[in-house]
Amino acid sequence: MFIGAHESIAGGVYKSINFAISDGDECLQIFVKNASRWKAKPLTVNDINRFIEKARIFGIDRICAHSSYLINLCSPRKDTEEKSIECFIDEMSRCEQLKIPYYVMHPGSHLGEGEEYGLKKLVNNIDKIYSEYNFDVMLLLETTAGQGTNLGYKWEHIHYVIEHSKFSEKIGICLDSAHLYAAGYDLKNNYDEVIDLFISKFGDKIKVFHLNDTNKNCGSRVDRHEYIGRGILGLEFFEKVVNDKRLGGVLGVLETPIDNDETYKVQVEILKSLRREL
Ligand SMILES: [Zn+2]
Repeated sequence: MFIGAHESIAGGVYKSINFAISDGDECLQIFVKNASRWKAKPLTVNDINRFIEKARIFGIDRICAHSSYLINLCSPRKDTEEKSIECFIDEMSRCEQLKIPYYVMHPGSHLGEGEEYGLKKLVNNIDKIYSEYNFDVMLLLETTAGQGTNLGYKWEHIHYVIEHSKFSEKIGICLDSAHLYAAGYDLKNNYDEVIDLFISKFGDKIKVFHLNDTNKNCGSRVDRHEYIGRGILGLEFFEKVVNDKRLGGVLGVLETPIDNDETYKVQVEILKSLRREL
């Protein structure tokens, strides 16, 4: 597994690669625009060229993007659905411009209309967008904690989308250790059972693994990320995951809180120190 972090794009998208290098990241996740806004100024040619030049040296296939938190492709509210589609297309287009191969997104919330309603709408919208735009970027649906009416807290939800989409070859999965644990997958006590399950269902569609500790109980359905080693999962879990040969090519990305005046460098080093010699 590659070890890296979600880095800031403050000052320009290319700056994230500088942060990644100074933190010792082997892989990187970024937002392609402000994640709490629907719209942003288009990327300039200069933004794009500077990013690609640095990304080629860093390793372009070790970079992924994370979607805006506003997007809900299964919303029953017409205006939210329309804005979500527009924002999704804009962010996927930014990934294409920056040559980023993976775009991570939460499956969305059905807001009371039911899981089947939500999943069908998600498949329809993904298919509509891919058939119109033919994006090369692979969409990675992230496993979630299952707060409220959020979909994605069961492997079956993501499997359903892959099975029913006409573009299944362009859809993969992003695991998140804090979310999986909150959703009831006991990575602390049944590590192999959980990882075997996801590998048997998704195989090499597992491209990204968010490496987050958590202080919320297994099955609590509460989404809280904790500093590596300071949560319930603990260093024992992270040692297993960074040394797991089945996850060899996966991008391991920190999305944890950091201490004052720290960057991700400290936690990246903690994870690297858990690697056993081959
Ligand atoms: Zn995550």
